Amino acid sequence: MTFSQTKADAGLVKALSGMVDSGRISHAILLHEDDGGGGVGVALAFLQYLYCRNRHDGDSCAACPPCNKIGKLIHPDIYFIFPVVLAGSSNSEGSPSEPYLVKWRELLLQNPGFTEAELYDALGFEGKATTIGASEANDLIRKLSRTSLEGGYTSVIIYLPERMNPTAANRLLKVLEEPPAMVQFVLVTHAPEKLLPTISSRCQLFRLQGDGATQALRYDDSGLFAELMDELLARDFASALETGERLAALPSRDNAILFCKFASEKMRRLFLLQQKLSALVPDADEAEKDWASKCRKTFPRKALEALDRSAQLIRRNVNLKILFTDLVNKLFLSI
Ligand SMILES: [Zn+2]
Repeated sequence: MTFSQTKADAGLVKALSGMVDSGRISHAILLHEDDGGGGVGVALAFLQYLYCRNRHDGDSCAACPPCNKIGKLIHPDIYFIFPVVLAGSSNSEGSPSEPYLVKWRELLLQNPGFTEAELYDALGFEGKATTIGASEANDLIRKLSRTSLEGGYTSVIIYLPERMNPTAANRLLKVLEEPPAMVQFVLVTHAPEKLLPTISSRCQLFRLQGDGATQALRYDDSGLFAELMDELLARDFASALETGERLAALPSRDNAILFCKFASEKMRRLFLLQQKLSALVPDADEAEKDWASKCRKTFPRKALEALDRSAQLIRRNVNLKILFTDLVNKLFLSI
C-alpha cells in the first residue's frame, strides 16, 4: 500500500516519509486513529516506504519486490499482532493471533479502514472479550531476536496495544527500552491515554485525523464544557453541579452523547498537551493550554473513562440528571 492509497493527510505523509528520508527513524511509532480511521493502512504504507528500493516523490514505488510482498501482506519480516479471544490455557507456546492471520489479511486487503468491531466480526469474536496476552509478547520477542529473512528491517504492527494485559505490556516495554537493531515498531491505537505512560513516552506519536475527531470537535456545546472546566478547577462544586443540570436538560439524548464525545476529544487534547506533545495539537487555544497546566496528570485518563461510561449509559436510557451529577462528581474528584 502506498501513502496515496491511505487516508493520511499530506502533513502526516510528510512527517512519516521525512523520517525515512533523513535516516532519523524513531524505532517505535504510535499512530493514533479513530476507530475505522485506516491506521493499519497508514502503518503499512510507512513500512512499504521504509522497505521500498525505488522511492520517489515521497512515496513507495509499489513495484519493487519488497513493495510487492508488503502489498500482498506476505513480507516475511513484517509481523502483525492484534487482540484475540484467548483460549482457556494461555500458557501454550506460540502466537495466539497467528491462527487468525489468514482472515486478518483478507479483511485488511479488502477494507484497510476496518473498525475494531468489523475485525472481531471477521474473526468470529462477536461480543467476546479480546486481549493481547503474555504468550503473544513472548512469541514476538522470539521473532524479533531472529535475523530478518530478507536482510533489512524486521517490523511489527501492533493493532490496539491498549488491549495488552499488564504482563504483555511490561514485556513489550522491556523491548522498547532496549530495542534490537533494525527493528521497527508501529503501534496503532484508539486511545493513547490507555497505554502505560512508559510505553507511549518511548514512541513517536502521530495523529491520523479522522472524521470522528473532526466531527466531535465541530459540535457546538454553547461553551458548557469550558464553563464546567473552569468551575471544576476553581473547586466550585455547586456551580459545576448546576452546569451538570444544564447538560442533563440538553434537548435530546443524542445531544448528551455528542457532548460526551466533544468532551472526550477535548480530554485527549489536554492529555497530549500535558505529555508535551503540543505539536500534535497545533490549534490548541489558550484555554486548553491553561487547563492542561492546571489539572492533574491523571485527570484526562480518568475523565475519558468516566465520559466513555456516561455515553454508554445514555444509550441505555438512564436518568440523565443522576448521570450528569455523577459525572460532575467524578470529574470534580479527579481533576
Ligand atoms: Zn518499492
